[in-house]
Amino acid sequence: MPKREDLLELKKELEGDLYCDDASRLMYATDASAYREMPVAVTRPKNNDDIKKIIAFARQHKTSLIPRTAGTSLAGQVVGSGIVVDVSKYMTQIIEINEKGKWVRVQPGVILDELNKILEPKGLFFGPETSTSSRCMIGGMVGNNSCGAHSIVYGSTRDHTLYVKAILSDGSAAEFGQITAEEFHNKLQGDSLENRIYKNVYEILNSPVNQQEIIRQYPDKSLKRRNTGYAIDLLLDCEPFTKDAVPFNFCRLIAGSEGTLAFITEIKLNLVPLPPKEKVLVCVHLNSAHEA
Ligand SMILES: Cc1cc2nc3c(=O)[nH]c(=O)nc-3n(C[C@H](O)[C@H](O)[C@H](O)COP(=O)(O)OP(=O)(O)OC[C@H]3O[C@@H](n4cnc5c(N)ncnc54)[C@H](O)[C@@H]3O)c2cc1C
Repeated sequence: MPKREDLLELKKELEGDLYCDDASRLMYATDASAYREMPVAVTRPKNNDDIKKIIAFARQHKTSLIPRTAGTSLAGQVVGSGIVVDVSKYMTQIIEINEKGKWVRVQPGVILDELNKILEPKGLFFGPETSTSSRCMIGGMVGNNSCGAHSIVYGSTRDHTLYVKAILSDGSAAEFGQITAEEFHNKLQGDSLENRIYKNVYEILNSPVNQQEIIRQYPDKSLKRRNTGYAIDLLLDCEPFTKDAVPFNFCRLIAGSEGTLAFITEIKLNLVPLPPKEKVLVCVHLNSAHEA
């Protein structure tokens, strides 16, 4: 556990904020769940360099990091004894909107409703309509693989996450997005942490024993709304592990990983057309529940 004087040294190095007083730690000791645990400190990084410094500090002092956006999680996802890293204050930019390509690039601290307000005149929106939309932020939506009332139509955040830029546990930056089978094999060359991640996943998913075990043990694929454990079954469903399948994309795993795999600094999201303004209601009259 880092000492107070070490934290104060880190504070001097950051462009953003660091708090280790009791009141700030108490404010960040919970989310929308009943769980409560005092973090050792709270930081609000201004940029990627700050995040790299915080990661290096956590490694050196053997503590954990808790990435956080709006903190509306219901199961203690942003509660922990390490350092809370709140990106909701400074990492809030909508970086680029591409109307023709129907995508947007954002920092993790962008609020869902604010993004959709900006997209509305363009006839587009981000599909998953999580009910905390006036607060929840894209980084947290990716972390939780959030969805909404119309998830059967629009899917969950995972289905619309095109790529994420992230900082890994050794401080290196990586971009995870859709790659071809050839690009996947190229990623296996080299010894960077990113290369080693691809190698590790290749070893796990290329083993027929593991493949069978994943198919046998993971929940039924017809269950659209599930977020139980790491979605390695969805990686198995990609090339190069399944022939003629969809291209490999680590975002399938990162979405829903609750901030445990990498620190996300940028997200590229797929957008969908706004639903038509007029709605139609069809009333079917039936005589019994059985007939219905
Ligand atoms: C009343 C209520 C209703 C809700 N309704 C829904 C609903 O309809 N659908 C639904 O899916 N959820 C719902 N939730 C849960 C929650 O609001 C959503 O999952 C929301 O999207 C979380 O966003 P957030 O910004 O609050 O994330 P946070 O709670 O701050 O974080 C969520 C996860 O993302 C991780 N994370 C955040 N930023 C980063 C980053 N930069 N890098 C890596 N990881 C990061 C965190 O570590 C954490 O694990 C509801 C919650 C409440 C209180």
